[in-house]
Amino acid sequence: MSTLSAFNTFTSGLKEDGYLMPVLFVGHGSPMNGIESNTFSRRWAALAQEIPVPKAVLVISAHWLSRGTRITAMDFPKTIHDFGGFPQELFEVQYPAPGNPQLAKETAQLFRSTELVQDHDWGLDHGSWTIVRHMYPEANVPVLQLSIDFTKGPQYHYELARELYGLRKKGVLIMGSGNMVHNLRMLSWDKMAEPEYGFDWALQLNEKFKEHIAAGSHQALIRYESMGSEARLAIPTVEHYLPLLYTLGLQGKEEEVSFFNDKAVGGSLTMTSVKIG
Ligand code: ZN
Repeated sequence: MSTLSAFNTFTSGLKEDGYLMPVLFVGHGSPMNGIESNTFSRRWAALAQEIPVPKAVLVISAHWLSRGTRITAMDFPKTIHDFGGFPQELFEVQYPAPGNPQLAKETAQLFRSTELVQDHDWGLDHGSWTIVRHMYPEANVPVLQLSIDFTKGPQYHYELARELYGLRKKGVLIMGSGNMVHNLRMLSWDKMAEPEYGFDWALQLNEKFKEHIAAGSHQALIRYESMGSEARLAIPTVEHYLPLLYTLGLQGKEEEVSFFNDKAVGGSLTMTSVKIG
């Protein structure tokens, strides 16, 4: 533990280092991606090799909803197994990345539109650890989570994200974790193993989302409810979509956008992910 706490002391009070960290939106899909080596998880691992090692990772996960906005502020966030009906092996996974309480405090200072509550109860839910453990398997990069205020609308979340921009200059990798198209009720469980199986409406909307993201048409994405019946099917509840708006809110002027894991799963879910910068 001594090396970890030394590392933690070293990274608290992160300085601006002249480099702007990329921002990600990652489609997390099934919790099984956390222990499987598949096309999605291999891409996560490869991506980590392509970008600078972050000083910390800050995840906005679809699986942490709260009244008001909270940030994990403990030294060692616990691994949360927030799912049911999966193999025991998945429940046994521990991802012992440290937190960074000092960074949590600094993030609170960046917020203008709301108070950021320092949280000591949550930890890392499967929206973060199933991805980050493939990227940083040694668990040597501090990981924090920011909750999603379920009382607020899309425009609010997009604007709140902009207040986090300064963290990119401090080497923090900010990652929205959800799924753009996410309708579990319509999922074809028997087609889960079939590669790239997507319903027509899901694939069409996936293309439309990508066009808007590539064109920087963020307002259209914030007003997803006016995108028609496909959007109503794709976003029956908003929690897996909102992390995308955090990612887009963090885009700087004329920053490049690219896509990865651009695939549908089980008909009504897309893993399509975004890298900005
Ligand atoms: Zn999820």
